[in-house]
Amino acid sequence: MPGRLQDKAALITGAGSGIGLESSILFAQEGANVLLVDVNLPAAEKVQKLIADRFPNVKSAAFKADVGKEEDVKAAVDKAVELFGRLDVMFNNAGIMHPADDNALNTEEKIWDLTHTINVKGVWWGCKYAILAMRNNPVDEAKGLHTGGSIINTASFVAIMGAATPQLAYTASKGAVLAMTRELAMVHAREGIRFNSICPGPLKTPLLMDFLNTPEKRDRRLVHLPMGRFGEAVEVAKGALFLASDDSSYMTGTDFKVDGGLTSAYVTPI
Ligand code: NAD
Repeated sequence: MPGRLQDKAALITGAGSGIGLESSILFAQEGANVLLVDVNLPAAEKVQKLIADRFPNVKSAAFKADVGKEEDVKAAVDKAVELFGRLDVMFNNAGIMHPADDNALNTEEKIWDLTHTINVKGVWWGCKYAILAMRNNPVDEAKGLHTGGSIINTASFVAIMGAATPQLAYTASKGAVLAMTRELAMVHAREGIRFNSICPGPLKTPLLMDFLNTPEKRDRRLVHLPMGRFGEAVEVAKGALFLASDDSSYMTGTDFKVDGGLTSAYVTPI
């Protein structure tokens, strides 16, 4: 049985941990050639070795890039095209939530700027160079269509709902990802390039768990989660796989929520 991403070429940012790590494994398992991009090269290399061992039939490589630098993002996309001959899936997933990010009064401008450089400009540049690469993908003669590609941008549930435990720069950056993704979806729809945001709920990954480092902080959130638990990175990766694959061929511009029901909640079960 061919995989759901058989022979597609994918680039995943933030591939060394959490959602990016699980997506890299899942995409490879489904037959994709994967470029694992991370600012933390040893972390990406570790995942790449695991993929090479488990899925010897797919091509994979690790690549160091800081998505907060345009030249790094361009180099990463160039590398994927050099290795795989094309780019079908771009998963702009890398992001940060800075420990000094706070409310409107306490957040320093440098924290705001750093967060937005990585979380917003990084996604913009990822989209920009992926579009340029995907425009070179061949026309599917059988369907008479440009084969285009799928671009997935990681936003967050906080782009949809407010929290009384603020990280203002982060929340604003994820709102920007949602808005940007919708517009990109419209501008490039006729080129066959699909853009969707994925909005994870709170997950058991280092990004959140390093921050929720006491039982009190975790309980402050858990009470609001309808399912009574944090999500797993692999549960979001499964959503990303759907958006990456042709199974979602009629979906573009969506805010795809994988949040355990959180954004539908008023009162939650106890
Ligand atoms: P994580 O911290 O487990 O992994 C993030 C990875 O991104 C790390 O490997 C890190 O080295 C890499 N990275 C950080 N800055 C980078 C940069 N400038 N350039 C390249 N790589 C960089 O995080 P995660 O929980 O898997 O989060 C992935 C995405 O999901 C982020 O965009 C995050 O904002 C979003 N998200 C996470 C949660 C959650 O609860 N964990 C919820 C909603 C959204």
